[in-house]
Amino acid sequence: MRYSVVTFGCRVNQADSLGFEEDLLACGAVSAPPEQADLVVVNTCSVTATADQGARQTIRRIARDNPAARIVVTGCYATRRPDEVGELPNVVRVIRNDDKPRLIPLIVTDQAIVSTAERFGEGDGSCGALLEPGMAGRTAFTLRVQTGCAERCSYCIIPSTRGRPRSVAIDAVLAEVDRVAAAGFAEIALTGVHLGSYGRELAPRSSLVELLRALASRGSRSVPLPPEVLFRISSLEPMDCSLDVVDLVAEGRAFAPHFHLPLQHASNRVLAAMQRPYTIEYYASLVNDIRTRMPHASIGSDVIVGFPGETDEDFDQLASYLEGSPLTHVHVFPYSDRPGTTATAMSGKVPGPVVRERGRRVREVAAGLATRFRQSQVGTVRPGLTLEDGSTVITDNYLKLRISPGRTRNERVRVRIASQHDGEVLCG
Ligand code: SF4
Repeated sequence: MRYSVVTFGCRVNQADSLGFEEDLLACGAVSAPPEQADLVVVNTCSVTATADQGARQTIRRIARDNPAARIVVTGCYATRRPDEVGELPNVVRVIRNDDKPRLIPLIVTDQAIVSTAERFGEGDGSCGALLEPGMAGRTAFTLRVQTGCAERCSYCIIPSTRGRPRSVAIDAVLAEVDRVAAAGFAEIALTGVHLGSYGRELAPRSSLVELLRALASRGSRSVPLPPEVLFRISSLEPMDCSLDVVDLVAEGRAFAPHFHLPLQHASNRVLAAMQRPYTIEYYASLVNDIRTRMPHASIGSDVIVGFPGETDEDFDQLASYLEGSPLTHVHVFPYSDRPGTTATAMSGKVPGPVVRERGRRVREVAAGLATRFRQSQVGTVRPGLTLEDGSTVITDNYLKLRISPGRTRNERVRVRIASQHDGEVLCG
């Protein structure tokens, strides 16, 4: 059986899809492009209306280009609107997020999707054998340690599609890290829907800091982690980025000097309307502290433009804060009305052309921040990991650079940053 997994959205979805790939390979299935696959799993996102539309267009295109394909749809859009998704062409099954852990068994035991003849080629069902850097095109492994969210950000639909917070127990995380490291992965990205709430619902209660400390204490573990394994903490809500987290990263041993702290807005009036539990003063002091302690750290963020009620003055506050901030890259999202959120009922919707213009201006500021940071790193030397065919490297502080050919994927190197986009490998 030839399969394809198409993934939209966040790192949590990427981690889920990596799991699907591994399970399918273990069942003896063979990876193929969507146009040639017998089975296509589409893992959707629903954070914006555009994400929903992207999934619909992709499913229609696959059905048109590969009429024999059986399409199984999962993810946040499938969870939010199973009815709508189920009506799309070639969709044979819609599986909610909660059922993702058993998605592959559900598929391979469903006669309507996988006939007996197609089931089990050479694969013996044992996972793990097939896990290696480069699988699904990924050099780093994305490890989901948490899912779900109990926050109530007024624009966000995710709590209703991902459910209540659930964390993977520390021992299980450590066991998975061992498995992944043994498979040769040199970088592991830790991710969750609300990563900062890690462990709060566990009994006994735990915390993200406790997990990070367990990962950092590689030396005292029964199976010491290879020294080259680096952890990257993915998106972390600002209110959860405590001094302990910053300290652990600043130690510089286990965690990449790379933060992603979604700000969303810089006007306290808008932050309150978004129900974000912090102020711009809190955020500014957090990122300034990180910058002071780690001048080389990458500090990314997300912002929303055009939130209901956003005035010119609010927007100017956002643009001017970003301009003078120590941030290094910013993802810009135009506000998207999500049915079922509190924001959707708010008055003062910002006209489309104004939203687009504000988005353009913030992207301009963001481009300037990225250039400024890259320029500031020229001449410095950083640890890096080679990607793809070995001709690019990602540094620990999240700079992607071109390097001379001749290396392979997944090599740990030391690289001198020669220019904004080029690096010189000093040693492997
Ligand atoms: S923290 Fe807020 S933005 Fe993030 S998933 Fe939860 S509700 Fe959505």
